[in-house]
Amino acid sequence: MGNGYPRDLIGYVSGKAPGSKVQLGVVRDGKDMTLTASLAERKDDTAGKGDPEKAASEDSHERIGIDVHTGVKVKRIEKTAKRLRTVFEVDGKEMSVKSDRVVNGAGRIANVIALDLDAGRIAHDGFRVAVDETMRSTSNPGVYVCGDALSGPPQLSPLATYEGRLVGRNIVEGPKHKPDYSSLPSAVYTVPALATVGLSEAKAKEKGIKTRVQVNNMEYWFSTRQFAETVAWSKIIVDEGSDAIVGAHFVGHAGEELVNIFGLAMKHGIKASAIRDFIFAYPTFSADIKSML
Ligand SMILES: Cc1cc2nc3c(=O)[nH]c(=O)nc-3n(C[C@H](O)[C@H](O)[C@H](O)COP(=O)(O)OP(=O)(O)OC[C@H]3O[C@@H](n4cnc5c(N)ncnc54)[C@H](O)[C@@H]3O)c2cc1C
Repeated sequence: MGNGYPRDLIGYVSGKAPGSKVQLGVVRDGKDMTLTASLAERKDDTAGKGDPEKAASEDSHERIGIDVHTGVKVKRIEKTAKRLRTVFEVDGKEMSVKSDRVVNGAGRIANVIALDLDAGRIAHDGFRVAVDETMRSTSNPGVYVCGDALSGPPQLSPLATYEGRLVGRNIVEGPKHKPDYSSLPSAVYTVPALATVGLSEAKAKEKGIKTRVQVNNMEYWFSTRQFAETVAWSKIIVDEGSDAIVGAHFVGHAGEELVNIFGLAMKHGIKASAIRDFIFAYPTFSADIKSML
């Protein structure tokens, strides 16, 4: 990216990772470009208004000149004399932003219909193949679905590999292996990166888990200052009764790496106190985990 790109750009995304990456890449790379606004339809836990994860990432978006609007419905894009006007609705009120170009990063769905599923007796609803818990077609036992074509779980590369391996085992050993998505780490590689694993605080409460939640603004921690980070934030959610990690969420602070340690702990039942007792190499971002829980 660089020369030849428009001065103003607007990306409207649905809280998806690639959209955010493109936006921030454009803004940081371009010397004479501004990303006018980011319009996201979703208002969920990792991208929800009022949620600290979102607030921290919104701050950093806004600091580099991106105006963030979440929970919006994009209505239409109109041509003005010189530019484009994107009209969107937020809380019942119509608003608009002007830009030279509009980028749609609202996500993608697998084009499974082009496969003529009916000819293979594969049940579907026009977009998704109907599968059971073992990822097997509900109507044709000889067909399994995995990866991006599997509707429901996140569309992520390591997940496609994981599901593919399980499908392979199901074909060989019979349909008995079900995917487990409960300790799936994921990250959005923006600057600062967003990373998450497990339940949000709200979801944990919804499930009736009595939680101990530690929110850390790590802006002035040694490692943050060492790397001159402007945003460093984490929220660790622990089941008060069992001491098990329930969720871990990061903005910055190498969260895209640390989230894997939390995912591993969740998967293998390593308790919060055991992590606190572990001796980490110092100075590292990982060593800060002890202070985060
Ligand atoms: C811009 C972008 C950024 C991403 N970034 C990340 C990231 O940072 N981290 C991450 O984990 N994931 C990321 N993903 C998602 C990741 O790429 C997908 O989840 C993953 O590739 C899915 O694997 P898959 O095998 O299901 O599908 P694919 O990788 O899409 O593979 C499907 C293959 O099937 C072939 N094919 C399709 N139709 C037919 C046909 N009729 N006959 C024969 N072959 C066919 C296609 O050509 C393709 O090669 C990103 C995706 C995008 C679009």
